[in-house]
Amino acid sequence: MITDSYGRTINYLRLAVTDRCNLRCTYCMPKDGLDWLPRRELMTYEEMWRICNLLVKMGVEKIRITGGEPFVRKDLLPFLKNISTINGLQQLTLTTNGVLTAPFIPELKKIGIKTVNLSLDTLDRDRFIKITHRDELNKIMETLESLLHHDFEVKINAVVMEGLNTEDIIPLVELTKALPVAVRFIEEMPFNGGSHLTALHWDAQRILEYMKAHFPGIQKRPDAAHSTSYNYHIPGHKGEVGIIAAYSRSFCGSCNRLRITPTGIVRTCLYDKGKLNIKEALREGKDDEALQDMIAQTILKKAANGREAERTRDKHEPAQESMATIGG
Ligand code: SAM
Ligand code: SF4
Repeated sequence: MITDSYGRTINYLRLAVTDRCNLRCTYCMPKDGLDWLPRRELMTYEEMWRICNLLVKMGVEKIRITGGEPFVRKDLLPFLKNISTINGLQQLTLTTNGVLTAPFIPELKKIGIKTVNLSLDTLDRDRFIKITHRDELNKIMETLESLLHHDFEVKINAVVMEGLNTEDIIPLVELTKALPVAVRFIEEMPFNGGSHLTALHWDAQRILEYMKAHFPGIQKRPDAAHSTSYNYHIPGHKGEVGIIAAYSRSFCGSCNRLRITPTGIVRTCLYDKGKLNIKEALREGKDDEALQDMIAQTILKKAANGREAERTRDKHEPAQESMATIGG
């Protein structure tokens, strides 16, 4: 079991397998994309496999594969199959934009993945194009349908942005009437790779008040341990709604996460800059014990919360790198 200096158990890894993406969500990256990382800088599947094994031995129970868009990386499925066989791993899951995902769904089911987070900020085609700069909403809706058909637990992530998708809040909540999905509204964070300056118009409180005005019967649901979302239910609806205060950072006290970026930077908080390059340590030939020790030491430096983590950054490096290079 790995614990940090505040006694928090770290048992959840979010592993970003690529920075590349087939969408250009405005809250995540500029419309012309990023300067994609050269391939040699990405961790290989073999390197990621070794690190995942080491971390599970250290107490990690859940691994989320993310990116960039995970399905943009070639041969993702064999990698997922390998990860799913790690002895001691209790849950493998992934976050995807759904564009390329549908054909893989039966296989994902076979290897034991039960929950998938799907990013979907709007149900309107024109707004989708405005937000993502691509015309792919149909494919995402097909992915959603297929995930539900295959009995996956689906969480829909929607970043709320003034002037872009606030008209979608109610239609997205209404999705939970007929569908057993959890729709989670996320506060916009500044990690957009310089796409724009973020001003938080819709914080968790405002999103909640807005939902309450339309659904006065909305009820609070208990939140699972380590949950980043505050969860609610509307009587008569099959699904749930949630709010993730990602910018306000009100959930840091129970944080159990560790992130590894596509280049192998170990980040103990979204808002810090990363304290260890595990890929370099691997490539220098460090043995398992040395790698585990380096990871444990890094976890001990995990900041108490996201505000403190942000203060450890260099003044000239504001928190605005793309989520695709961190792993959302
Ligand atoms: N491409 C995949 C996807 O979009 O689901 C996985 C990677 S994406 C970086 C993971 C999550 O981060 C998505 O749900 C996305 O909505 C969220 N995200 C990206 N940039 C964000 C930002 N600036 N603020 C809040 N959430 C953000
Ligand atoms: Fe791509 Fe996901 Fe970022 Fe959108 S949020 S640009 S889908 S990585």
